[in-house]
Amino acid sequence: MKPIYSVIVPVYNEEDIVTETYNRLNAVMESMKESYELIFVNDGSRDETANIIAKLVSQDPCVRLINFARNFGHMPAITAGMEYAKGDAIIIIDADLQDPPEVLPDMAALWKQGYDVVYGKRKERKGETFFKVWSAKMFYLFINSMTPLELPINTGEFRLMDRKVCDAVNRLQEKHRYVRGMVSWVGFRQTAYEYVREERLAGVTKYPLRKMLSLAMDAITAFSYKPLKLATALGFLMSFFSFVYLIVILWQRLFTDTTVAGWASTVGVVLLTQGMVLMILGIIGEYIGRIFEEVKNRPIYIVREALGYDEEKS
Ligand code: UDP
Ligand code: MG
Repeated sequence: MKPIYSVIVPVYNEEDIVTETYNRLNAVMESMKESYELIFVNDGSRDETANIIAKLVSQDPCVRLINFARNFGHMPAITAGMEYAKGDAIIIIDADLQDPPEVLPDMAALWKQGYDVVYGKRKERKGETFFKVWSAKMFYLFINSMTPLELPINTGEFRLMDRKVCDAVNRLQEKHRYVRGMVSWVGFRQTAYEYVREERLAGVTKYPLRKMLSLAMDAITAFSYKPLKLATALGFLMSFFSFVYLIVILWQRLFTDTTVAGWASTVGVVLLTQGMVLMILGIIGEYIGRIFEEVKNRPIYIVREALGYDEEKS
């Protein structure tokens, strides 16, 4: 039988906390007195995470485990969860319990009132470094200025969405998936649910600066080609100034005798334009790389095994 709720939990090297995550989620979902499934997507963890969850699968018929063949990333893990989810409402939540599962009944109530997407909005972020909070803020400002998308500020992947939203997002074929952007893009009736974001329960963040930057790049290139327009604009600007400068030089050559002194400015202009050209090539390269990725049409993730699907009890 189809469950009402599908809870998707991406996990990557979370052996310290998965048991606690399961206990808290289990308690909350049981209290809601409706059918549910807990889908853990193990994103190629190299620790005991998979074994711990596999044991849970054998004890609890509501638990599923999708094991990836290697580490594909947070977004592919969520994508897999959304494709495996069978529920009428799909919930995405991080394994580290920064987003408290206890607010899920309230979010579900909003869903029952007729909202198709209830996204968690952080009122306050506890225990995160100044740099993390600041960089996240910059990230949202940047995305909102670079893409036509109106991305709600201070919103992560923590959200509840209706079956039809999940289906709509699953239909989007792109390989670099910026899930919160895609959910925002498909539309439907969306609303915010404000909560306080807690500290990570244990373990360390699995999002080092490198992964954050790559996510930001995906977010921008997937939703806008403004950077390309920026490149064009810069190119035009440079051409314009070069042209003006050319006239100045010609004037100097013809009407004054100061022309040899131009070495510094020549080198300056050459360096500047070279830098600009390289930057623009880089931007174009980012897009070409992504086109290449789409053209190859490889799967977004590869599943090694899926546990908890053999005996469909409910
Ligand atoms: N995660 C994942 N694959 C990765 C990185 C992270 O599945 O390559 C999971 C991780 O286990 C956690 C969630 O994504 O459940 C969010 O990661 P984290 O809490 O480390 O990010 P932060 O909250 O620090 O941004
Ligand atoms: Mg976290």
